[in-house]
Amino acid sequence: MEKQLQILKDKLKQIHNLTKAAEVLGWDQRVNMPFGGSEARAEQMATLEKLAHEMFTTDEIGLLLESLAQANFDDDSDEAALIRLARREYDLARKLPPELVEQMSRTFSLGEQIWAQARANKDFSQFQETLEKIVDLNIQRAEAYGYQDCIYDALLNSFEPGMKTVEVAQVFETLKAELVPFVQAIKGQAGAVDDAVFRQNYDEVAQWNFSMEVLKAIGYDFERGRQDKSAHPFTISFSINDVRVTTRISQDTFPSSLLSSVHEGGHALYEQGIAQTLEGTLLANGTSLGVHESQSRLWENIVGRSRQFWQFYYPRLQQFFPNQLANVNAETFYRAINKVTPSLIRTESDEITYNLHILLRFELEQALLEKRLKVADLPEAWRAKMEQYLGLTPPNDALGVLQDIHWSGGSMGYFPTYTLGNVLSVQFYSQALRDMPDLPDQFARGEFGALGSWLRQQLYRHGSKFTANELIKRVTGDTGLNARPYLDYIKHKFGEIYGV
Ligand code: ZN
Repeated sequence: MEKQLQILKDKLKQIHNLTKAAEVLGWDQRVNMPFGGSEARAEQMATLEKLAHEMFTTDEIGLLLESLAQANFDDDSDEAALIRLARREYDLARKLPPELVEQMSRTFSLGEQIWAQARANKDFSQFQETLEKIVDLNIQRAEAYGYQDCIYDALLNSFEPGMKTVEVAQVFETLKAELVPFVQAIKGQAGAVDDAVFRQNYDEVAQWNFSMEVLKAIGYDFERGRQDKSAHPFTISFSINDVRVTTRISQDTFPSSLLSSVHEGGHALYEQGIAQTLEGTLLANGTSLGVHESQSRLWENIVGRSRQFWQFYYPRLQQFFPNQLANVNAETFYRAINKVTPSLIRTESDEITYNLHILLRFELEQALLEKRLKVADLPEAWRAKMEQYLGLTPPNDALGVLQDIHWSGGSMGYFPTYTLGNVLSVQFYSQALRDMPDLPDQFARGEFGALGSWLRQQLYRHGSKFTANELIKRVTGDTGLNARPYLDYIKHKFGEIYGV
């Protein structure tokens, strides 16, 4: 049995290396590559991914997994977890024909380039045909995976293993029922927050330098990572010891650039915090996108938008921007960075209305996959829902349907994990607070190490050994996803700011 396990590990390691090499090419494509490289790069990545897929879906791997199913590893051991995860991914991968995998890879890679051009030109029609192909490929993928209740389940399962669309829809219903009237109440008190401080220009180099300082402070290891700029901020891991982040900076968008850095930094802390013993294995990943997002949101919102964080960092920020911040005190700044106001861009929206941006995408994706909505009608459907949920109309497609990279890269069924992340961030943080009630005081002293260690110990080191539900149970004792702590946190924090 030991011998078979070693053979399996060796094979998985080779596949892992191919996959990571393709990801390095993907990172370069988004960060450095000239537009002219698009087609060749798409071919290169498709070749690597096809090879990895072929190596993973051989009968030999299937036989190894079958014989290892008889092995008596302890359920909590790395070995048992590796075999479980390999089995799950093998079963999914075997369902996809190699031609479909290659076609998806090429289309999704080219899609990102075409999307970037269309977005720059604020013209959806340049992206429409590509998106039609992407939706069609996702339908083919979902049909190949198979599903019982609805087509969306098949895709959601890739990002949030075991989660059902109906469960996600219920979380949104719970949030919508309490957040919509709460946002209405806040609207009536809009004068409580003045964010004029952000309607100024902030030097890009100074923003960059400040973001680097904060990333270091929260524990991001620059010996095992780096920050670059890209059109859409992202985190990517080639190894536990090489986890990179990107941010988007322009003069007139402070503080979104900083919050992007902290957000991606949270994702990166998770990846850098995985136990070294899992390096190079299938387990060296966050366990689901929802859990991953819980960490970016925890660092971005619960820490990075807290009063205590700015008690410590505001005087430092004033040194970076003495002119812009001369006549603004820390409390005004804290309120400004927490202003609740419906906005056109998801990544620049506040903690509360963010969930409505996700609701809109979740509904549109379901409609596209169920063929209730044509891609050609998508910009109009987007505008209608923006009006319905946020009371805003995008003046162009770059500020509307073209704003996110996700669909262009082939990801459908991904968006709801953002809101699951919001909900989970507070579930986990509430437990951290029960264990260490003085955490906010530590933040006020610029100390984030205790929270970082706790998260590493409780969550990060496990990689994907445990499912989201298993982690929730281990860490918090809750039986599953629970929106209550999130709603209580939101109402307490913003109730205090807005007096509602
Ligand atoms: Zn994120």
